[in-house]
Amino acid sequence: MKNCKIVQNYIIGENSIKKLNELISNNSKKDTIILIDDYFENNYSILENFINNKHKILFVSTKTEPKSEYIDEIVKKIKNNYQPDLIVGIGGGTTLDISKATSILLTNNGKAEDYQGWDLVKNKSIYKIGIPTISGTGAEFTRTAVMTSPSKKLGINSDESVFDQVILDPNLIKTVPNDKFIYTAMDCFVHNVESLRGTQNDSMTIAYAEKSLEMLKKIFKGEMDYEKLMVCSAFGGLAVANSNVGICHPLSYGLSLVLGLRHGYAITIAFNQLEEYYPEVKDFKLILEKYNISLPKIIDESVTEEQISKMADATLLNEKPLENAFGKKWKEIFTKEKVIELLKKM
Ligand code: NAD
Ligand code: ZN
Repeated sequence: MKNCKIVQNYIIGENSIKKLNELISNNSKKDTIILIDDYFENNYSILENFINNKHKILFVSTKTEPKSEYIDEIVKKIKNNYQPDLIVGIGGGTTLDISKATSILLTNNGKAEDYQGWDLVKNKSIYKIGIPTISGTGAEFTRTAVMTSPSKKLGINSDESVFDQVILDPNLIKTVPNDKFIYTAMDCFVHNVESLRGTQNDSMTIAYAEKSLEMLKKIFKGEMDYEKLMVCSAFGGLAVANSNVGICHPLSYGLSLVLGLRHGYAITIAFNQLEEYYPEVKDFKLILEKYNISLPKIIDESVTEEQISKMADATLLNEKPLENAFGKKWKEIFTKEKVIELLKKM
């Protein structure tokens, strides 16, 4: 039994971002740093009425998903110039995870990669507010800040990675184009399936995952409701945060580490080959068909055996998710040979 930490406060509803300044003044006496997804650099008019320009704004590059060195650079820049006691993250999973990691690194010495793993953070992080602008990863509600360092893609799994406050404003996700919506929403679909089919779930996480899947299926059918999509993402996050992901995420981490695939896309490529473990792959394939997505072959002759071996090793580093999927004796079942066989199908 785990003692589950969840986000303390959230506000949900159209224009709820209006509350941001009040929340900042209630919780900050020094500098507030606002990390914003670079999509808004050219679309700042969407946010400008809600952000007081006395705060320090840093646009975060989303060209690649979080790299530990990039987080170290941001932390150094902030430490050298400001005395922050509050971090706000506004953006997708990339920006939210960078914000979470930054809030930890500002009070814990060393590099971001030193904290990749489970419960390695010693000092309390600084107060943080998360505001998602694309839905699916559930990063707004989880206890991990995922990043890639030279040898692994792994999160800072810690209670200190949980946002203190979340604002879910459906107006902010309305500009997400269809191709980005679908892959990030697929991530949510897979979170729910992996949580439900794992061994570490409980009545609470099952309820979150079932409701999230039910609502998400309606959205995939074409009944788009932005606020409900935000709830799907949040519930998917709550489900995995307090149970675990399963087989698909570790495989996707290998693909992302070696080939640089974005998370939602890597998840989609991997899940497509997991029908022997997850019967939900059938529904998933129907959704891909509905959205006219035909997935290319990723592991082709241009990918070397050495790269495939590195992907398999990166996959097998994810002991906790794999234990969730297969039980304590997972190493006997999910061997490197099996991982390579699955990867070669992708
Ligand atoms: P993302 O944050 O990388 O964003 C994808 C793209 O969408 C970016 O180009 C971004 O600029 C753009 N975008 C964001 N908001 C937009 C808006 N309102 N309108 C138009 N464009 C917008 O994508 P993501 O799928 O949200 O996040 C992926 C990352 O999240 C990966 O690094 C993954 O590992 C991580 N992740 C974290 C958790 C967690 O629990 N912490 C869970 C799952 C995934
Ligand atoms: Zn995911």
